[in-house]
Amino acid sequence: MRSLKNTPHVVIIGAGFAGLYAARALAKSGARVTLVDRRNHHTFQPLLYQVATAALSPGEIAYPIRHIFKNSPNVSVLLGRATAFDLEGNRVQLDGDWLAYDYLIVAAGATHAYFGHPEWALYAPGLKSVEDATEIRRRMLLAFEIAERHARFTQAPEAVNFVVVGGGPTGVELAGAVAEIAQVVLASDFRSIDPRSTRVTLIEAGPRILPSFSEDLSASATGQLKKLGVEVMTGTAVTDIDKDHVHVGERNIPASVVLWAAGVAASPLGQLLGVPLDRAGRVHVGSDLSIPGYPHVFVLGDMASVLQENGKPVPGVAPAAMQMGQFAAATIAGDVRGESRKVFHYNNKGNLATIGRSSAVADVKGVKLKGHAAWFTWLFVHVLFLVGFRNRITVVWDWFWAYVSFQRGARLITGISRSIIPPTTAVIQSTHQASQQEQCGVGAGISIQPARKN
Ligand SMILES: Cc1cc2nc3c(=O)[nH]c(=O)nc-3n(C[C@H](O)[C@H](O)[C@H](O)COP(=O)(O)OP(=O)(O)OC[C@H]3O[C@@H](n4cnc5c(N)ncnc54)[C@H](O)[C@@H]3O)c2cc1C
Repeated sequence: MRSLKNTPHVVIIGAGFAGLYAARALAKSGARVTLVDRRNHHTFQPLLYQVATAALSPGEIAYPIRHIFKNSPNVSVLLGRATAFDLEGNRVQLDGDWLAYDYLIVAAGATHAYFGHPEWALYAPGLKSVEDATEIRRRMLLAFEIAERHARFTQAPEAVNFVVVGGGPTGVELAGAVAEIAQVVLASDFRSIDPRSTRVTLIEAGPRILPSFSEDLSASATGQLKKLGVEVMTGTAVTDIDKDHVHVGERNIPASVVLWAAGVAASPLGQLLGVPLDRAGRVHVGSDLSIPGYPHVFVLGDMASVLQENGKPVPGVAPAAMQMGQFAAATIAGDVRGESRKVFHYNNKGNLATIGRSSAVADVKGVKLKGHAAWFTWLFVHVLFLVGFRNRITVVWDWFWAYVSFQRGARLITGISRSIIPPTTAVIQSTHQASQQEQCGVGAGISIQPARKN
């Protein structure tokens, strides 16, 4: 992009894929950019499940935003939360402070949706942030520790049961990785339980898993999961979730750990803009990705509702968000040069989902791949787009080591106060009781009491 003659102030809310790629493109143009995020790091969400399943550490998939722009003096980074918009006054509120803009880019991503059952979040965490990933890792590893201790004191080993709700790419990745951990990684680490007896169930309400893939790739993924010992239940809607069961109609599936990968909704920031939204809470944007009536305000990525030429919505995936970010930056530069606005075209580069060690499915521009070929494609693409050279090196090394050693290096149970195993006879108690006992020096506490969502 050529340098801008006038230098508009562009405020970007969200340093995810859309915000980051917009800021990078604008940094080169010379525009004044203020990039705001409620976290100090950019998260590479496609690899979150690897943190959740102990293959990678959080620092390998998250990168400090400030550091990304350390050589871009025209980009300033602010840690803060957008809390209100004044579209008529061209300003956005950050935790009470008002920040003026010439252009505003809103790219705050998506959040979990529990289909009108927010109470399920307590028992079935979703995966969107590093905090979610470490919480899932804690629950997963703790479930095996609890089973081991229970078996040791009662001589009655019980299987650990994992239930993953949602058969999209994230659910498939989680189910495959959990099964692999139980079957391979932990197989010989315990003395009183056999982790290979772990049950992993993947529940999908629709007729097949991976609905965004072709039917044959979806069938291949089902086969690859079954090979890993995952029970795949399709056409099955979850009706309730409590602390140790998932209910599907009359059937109750025992669950030591439940993972939610079933629904997403756009960031609630869309509602604050006061403009029309679609059913998933995404903002209807024009073909130039701006809000109708507000040409200086763009909504991008998972928050944007925009159609492709084939009439289908642009999907909520990382490449779409990146392309939108680059497009909005080019549009702003074009405005400054007095050019007319162009129409956003989504370039669909393909679909990828990994299932486990050497298993994946991929559809790259109509070329369908399964097994090893798909898995190597998946590895290559994810390393290519990971932010930070050091991260790429360490991730490749960790994957190589995991591949040859069958090990996962990040098997840490963190959050110690919530990780104390109760006596075998104890019932689950409230966090308050547990913390009181800890203060009194009593060793009993809470096991997998769900963490509060942030
Ligand atoms: C577990 C998981 C796996 C995925 N796997 C894949 C995959 O394999 N391939 C693929 O293409 N896509 C994948 N996706 C989807 C992809 O990650 C998203 O489509 C993409 O991240 C959307 O980019 P975005 O910029 O719109 O939002 P995000 O990347 O979510 O970024 C939003 C940013 O906004 C910030 N923010 C939110 N609210 C506020 C606020 N009020 N104030 C300030 N900042 C705020 C957040 O902290 C965040 O940094 C996956 C998503 C998840 C959750």
